[in-house]
Amino acid sequence: MSQLRTVPPTESVTGRATKVTDDLYFERLDDPYCLTSWHWCTDGKVWRSLPVQYNEVQQEHPLHLKAPTLFSCCGLHGWVRNGKWEPA
Ligand SMILES: [Zn+2]
Repeated sequence: MSQLRTVPPTESVTGRATKVTDDLYFERLDDPYCLTSWHWCTDGKVWRSLPVQYNEVQQEHPLHLKAPTLFSCCGLHGWVRNGKWEPA
């Protein structure tokens, strides 16, 4: 399935995703325990989602996560601090 790179698949539905970079968004969907992260994966050129447990969230606005984020699919690795991405 090909995807448009512009926004994550759910963004056009919910309009609630928080943009961190052009390639990384976080979104509160219906799961009470997790945020959903979306990244544009260079492995396959698709948007991939991964859950982020709420206990990893220091602050939601601006988004600040306690631990670095590692996407093993493509090796994207870094910190989300004060709504900004800092590569690890
Ligand atoms: Zn990836």
